[in-house]
Amino acid sequence: MSQLTVAKFGGTSVADAHAMALCAKIVTQNPQTRVVALSASAGVTNLLVALAQGTLSQEERQAHLTRLTHIQDAILDALGRPDAACQQIQTILAEVAQLAEQAVQETDAALVDRLVAQGELMSTRLFTELLTQQGHKASWFDVRRVMRTDSLFGKATPAIEALRTLCQQELSPLLTDHIVITQGFIGANAEGQTTTLGRGGSDYSAALLAEALNASELEIWTDVPGIYTTDPRLVSSARPIDEISFAEAAEMATFGAKVLHPATLQPALRKGIPVFVGSSKAPEAGGTWVRGKTDSTPLFRAVALRRNQQLLTLQSPSMLGACGFLAEVFSILAKHRISVDLITTSEVSVSLTLDHTGSQSSGKSMLSDAVLAELSALCKVKVEEDLALVALIGNRMSEVNGAGSRVFDTLDDVNIRLICYGASPHNLCFLVREADAVSVVQRLHQQLLG
Ligand code: ADP
Ligand code: ASP
Ligand code: MG
Repeated sequence: MSQLTVAKFGGTSVADAHAMALCAKIVTQNPQTRVVALSASAGVTNLLVALAQGTLSQEERQAHLTRLTHIQDAILDALGRPDAACQQIQTILAEVAQLAEQAVQETDAALVDRLVAQGELMSTRLFTELLTQQGHKASWFDVRRVMRTDSLFGKATPAIEALRTLCQQELSPLLTDHIVITQGFIGANAEGQTTTLGRGGSDYSAALLAEALNASELEIWTDVPGIYTTDPRLVSSARPIDEISFAEAAEMATFGAKVLHPATLQPALRKGIPVFVGSSKAPEAGGTWVRGKTDSTPLFRAVALRRNQQLLTLQSPSMLGACGFLAEVFSILAKHRISVDLITTSEVSVSLTLDHTGSQSSGKSMLSDAVLAELSALCKVKVEEDLALVALIGNRMSEVNGAGSRVFDTLDDVNIRLICYGASPHNLCFLVREADAVSVVQRLHQQLLG
């Protein structure tokens, strides 16, 4: 087959009919683009998550359903209210209403996923209709036919080999003469139950599809023209980066640059698929290419911020000179599918932050009462909140003399709660108080990247 591009459009890119029309232009201008993965229209997933929690009053539920209906209706109106699409959306909204009632009685992670998946099912129906009206051969495809996952509802893990086989069987044959429109974020377990990959997971879905279909390029279209030196919402002087390596971009995504879901670059890296990040509102503005090798390898490339961090400190006198304490701690965390992020140790204690890679679709904290109870049986447990993780991303940071002092000299009046430096040449991370976070990012950007 000829070269294939997989394109993903995020929530703001498919927020309304006008935004969708800009996406349609991007898709149809590139004949290589034959797989399109979409998020739900902006705001829809949040409304669905709230309904799925089952805690809203009758009036609040009604208000949420009305807002959902308005978002879909505005797009249907712009499309001239075609019968088939109106019917499809009506059926989905009726299912949302029914599942929301069920959630009030009793909700669980499987129900949450069934409910939140409806947003992507609607946006893809509407976008397929738009392309068809424009005279293109577009085919709506239920990604649950191929995106096989385990049953960890809310943050399911994709089965890479099954996905590849199913894509070759079910999806590839359509690509010869159709543009396939499919859902990001959602999947299904072996029993056919709907699962989700965690919030922001559509980027990851698109990368997984690109890998499974041997695509030559992956495009992530969002609301900013590329990956910036830091979040442009926090620092107005942040600049788009022309080119960045997989390793650096993966660190950025992991440590909070929301522009990419943290796992997005794993499939791209496995297959060496170049990733383009650009704005669907301004495709002419260009964007960022993420590749294996880049021309420039600056010492400091970018600053990322991850808020809402919890620091877990585990203290046990039996850790003194003993073997196996950390192994026990890690086995409890592993049992609860929690992966550790930053870690520092002392003689009798260990402090760690938890990896929030693609937080759960339900929005629940991963530090459940069950984990805390098991850890407390082993040692003294302290949880600190209101912290933020700041990460400096760059190259050879652990090898260049004075890199650390350049960072910390800028912050001599800030309380730094924990530092991780040296495990990777691409990052230097530390925790600060949430209240200081934005000013820390602004100062680092000005001093090191300005
Ligand atoms: P989408 O809905 O298209 O997936 P997201 O809201 O998930 O879009 O991601 C885009 C947002 O990521 C931007 O609007 C920006 O505020 C934020 N962001 C955070 N860090 C960065 C960064 N380093 N570069 C660009 N955007 C960033
Ligand atoms: N719609 C999902 C979310 O809001 C997935 C995504 O947009 O990537 O998290
Ligand atoms: Mg996103």
